[in-house]
This record gives sequence, C-alpha cells and structure tokens, in this order.
Amino acid sequence: MAEVLVLGAGMVGVSTALALQARGHDVTIVERGTPGRETSYGNAGLIQTEAVEPYAMPLAPGALLQIAMGRGYDVKWTPQGLLSQLGAVATYAWNSRPAAHKRASVTWGKLIRQSTDRHAPLVAASGADNIIRRNGYIEIHRTPARMDKARVTAERFATEFGVQARLLTGAELRAMEPSIRTEVEGATHWSDSWNCADPGGLVAAYAALFQKNGGRIVNGDAGDLHRKGAAWVADETEAEHAVIALGPWSPMLTERFGLKVAMVFKRGYHRHYHMELPPHHPIADFGNSVVMSPMRRGLRIATAAELTPHPRLSPPQLRHGEKAARELFDVGAPVEAEPWTGRRPCMPDMLPVVGRIPDQPNLWGHFGHGHQGFTLGPVTAEILADELSGGMGWAELQPSRLKRG
Ligand SMILES: Cc1cc2nc3c(=O)[nH]c(=O)nc-3n(C[C@H](O)[C@H](O)[C@H](O)COP(=O)(O)OP(=O)(O)OC[C@H]3O[C@@H](n4cnc5c(N)ncnc54)[C@H](O)[C@@H]3O)c2cc1C
Repeated sequence: MAEVLVLGAGMVGVSTALALQARGHDVTIVERGTPGRETSYGNAGLIQTEAVEPYAMPLAPGALLQIAMGRGYDVKWTPQGLLSQLGAVATYAWNSRPAAHKRASVTWGKLIRQSTDRHAPLVAASGADNIIRRNGYIEIHRTPARMDKARVTAERFATEFGVQARLLTGAELRAMEPSIRTEVEGATHWSDSWNCADPGGLVAAYAALFQKNGGRIVNGDAGDLHRKGAAWVADETEAEHAVIALGPWSPMLTERFGLKVAMVFKRGYHRHYHMELPPHHPIADFGNSVVMSPMRRGLRIATAAELTPHPRLSPPQLRHGEKAARELFDVGAPVEAEPWTGRRPCMPDMLPVVGRIPDQPNLWGHFGHGHQGFTLGPVTAEILADELSGGMGWAELQPSRLKRG
C-alpha cells in the first residue's frame, strides 16, 4: 500500500482521500484553509442523478446574441473575464455542438447516475443523515412553452438514462409546496436526486470520517509541491504519490509540472435569506437562471455563470434571482452582509480530469467537475483510487487528453 498526499479538501479531495483510505493507503490531505469552505461550500446543494448531460453552452443564434448583448441572466461576462479565458471558452462552445455534446454525455451520464449510490455509504458512516434530503428537487416552468420542452426532456431522460421525473400541474405544485404564492404553468419533480441543507457541513463530516479512520489533515499550502528524490513534498509533508484536487486552483499547479490546463471559470454567487416557511425542496427556476435551496442558514439563492476575474459587489444575476424568488415566495431579509462567490472549475470538453499527469511519476490529477462536483466527487474518487491502486482508470477522463489538445 502506498503513502499518498491529497492536495485540497473540497468535496473532490476529501472523497479521494476516503476512497484511497478504504483501499488501505496511508493518506494525508494538505489544505490551506478548512475542509469544504470554498466551491464545495457555496453550491446549491443538489446531488443530481438527473443531471445526465453536462451543461452545454447555449449556441442558438438568439441565445448567443442575448449573451453578447449582456441581456439575460444565464451567462454574464466582462471583457477582461472573457479575454482571459477566450481559448477555453471557444473550445467549450465547439464541444457544445450536438454531436460532441452527445459523446460527452455518454460518459457523463454513466458517472452521474452513480452519484447517490456513492454518497450513500459516506453519508451513513459520517453521520450526516440529518443534512441530507432524499426527496429530489423541483424545476418550475413559468410558461406553456417551457412546460412543453420539459415534458420532452423528462421523457428522453427516462428512456435514455432511466431518470425518474414527475410532471406537475400548477395546482399539484402548490399542493406540494404551499409556500409558492404565484401561478406557474407547472413543474418537473426530479424525484431520484438528493439535496443537502449544508454542503460545507457535508464535506466537513466526510473529512471528520477520514480523520476518525486514521487519516491526517495538514493545514498548509500545496503550492510549493516539489520532488525530493522519488517522493512528492507539499508543505514539508512527503509521500510517494500526490493527487492534485484543488478545484479551480488546480491549473496553477499542473502548469508547473508541464500540463497546461485551459479551464473555464464560471463564477457563481449565493446569498441566504430569512424565510419563515421555506419550501420542502430546492426550487430551480432556470427561466430566471436561479436555484433556491432551503438550507440551515436560510433560503440560499444561487446564480448561474459569470465570466469575470473579480467578483462584483452587487451582482446583477443575484439581484435578478432575488426578484424572481420574491415573486414566488415570501422571502425575508438577507442573512449575510455580502454575497458568497466562487468559481465552477469547468473543462472545455465538459468531462472531469481523473488520472495520471503525463511524464510525472506518481502525480495524479482530479479536478474540473464543473457544475456538478458536489454530486460527482465520490464517484470519480472511486475511479481515481482504483487507478492509483493498479486499475485501468477511465480512458476518456485521463489528463493526457489535454496534451493532445
Ligand atoms: C453557485 C454554484 C452552484 C453550484 N451548485 C452545484 C450543485 O447544486 N450540485 C453540484 O454537484 N455542484 C454544484 N456546483 C459545483 C460544485 O460546487 C463544484 O464543482 C465543486 O464544489 C468543486 O469541488 P472541488 O473539491 O473540486 O473544489 P473546491 O471545493 O474549491 O476545493 C478545492 C480546495 O483546494 C484548496 N486549495 C486551493 N489552493 C490550495 C493550496 N495552494 N494549498 C492547499 N489547499 C488549496 C481550497 O482551499 C479548497 O478547499 C455549484 C457551483 C457554484 C459556484
């Protein structure tokens, strides 16, 4: 069995550490902050077995024009934000063409359908059942056109991937969610997905489980990773193997070891709001590019994608999301003085990076889970841990694909 350093303690790093530990390896995590306090803290908390296709860039001329003009709330950008990642965004757009997207979806769908099965034993062993709801989430459709489209999608996902969904009329929706006070056309209840009332708390619970089982967490900076003879050393801790699981910070480190990673950084925001009668499920209103999740701290309103290097103090997507939420619910005052912000680590081919870093003995990459890393961490952790233990890994996910361009 090997000694392994896992760099980063988000959902991906902590899940990796647990999967390696379960195979008998001696694992140390190096994390500069606290486990689960970055991207894996700030998400919408969905564990999404229904997200069988990775998030494609909208390519219809109308949608592109809307994005280019800065209208709509799905994708916002600033010139600096777009220019700094233009190559990666262009490749992402190229891979969003229907044939390429379908190819990526075959792999992605296989991963995502395992997600609740992979989280289940970790939730049980870490005693995190009290923050997990297994009641799915609800996607509302405000117009008949959106409802028609939803019907087609639900049927297709059921046939192609076995996803469970129930289509609801406006009246059925209000019976399930009495706190909704506006008329909407209907909704999809994605019933086999799960959701979490405290995403950062779930990562912390998994990290505590790792420590309880004998794992070590070192509070330090992995940025100085270097070789010392046959070993890898980070913040004075050494081991035979090192796994880079730094989420959106991964490319900075891989570049030092010869692997240039063109990542698309999709910024998102959230803020909590007081609410006396929160919904029983997370409510996605994709027509307004927002997800509203009942969390321990209040109703978390989470936004879609923004291509900006620096966060905005008053993000337009969050202002719009708050307005949409107030139409639906009786939402109170914000809990925090300022919104949270973080960046989704998205690969231009829409698949996570899981496997050996080329030309670097015993250096591994595990990052780039995009819109669904909270869901997928424990799934791809199993794949990485198998490969590190002598298995084959998944060819489609190997870091070497990035060298081929
Ligand atoms: C608004 C929003 C909503 C989302 N909603 C969902 C959702 O509902 N469901 C879902 O599945 N996904 C969702 N996501 C995506 C998901 O949150 C991410 O894909 C996932 O959290 C990435 O996890 P990670 O472990 O790779 O990265 P992170 O959670 O960012 O972890 C990386 C870790 O590395 C550490 N680190 C960085 N640099 C160093 C260093 N030099 N030394 C030591 N440590 C370092 C950081 O401190 C951090 O703890 C959402 C994302 C956003 C932004």
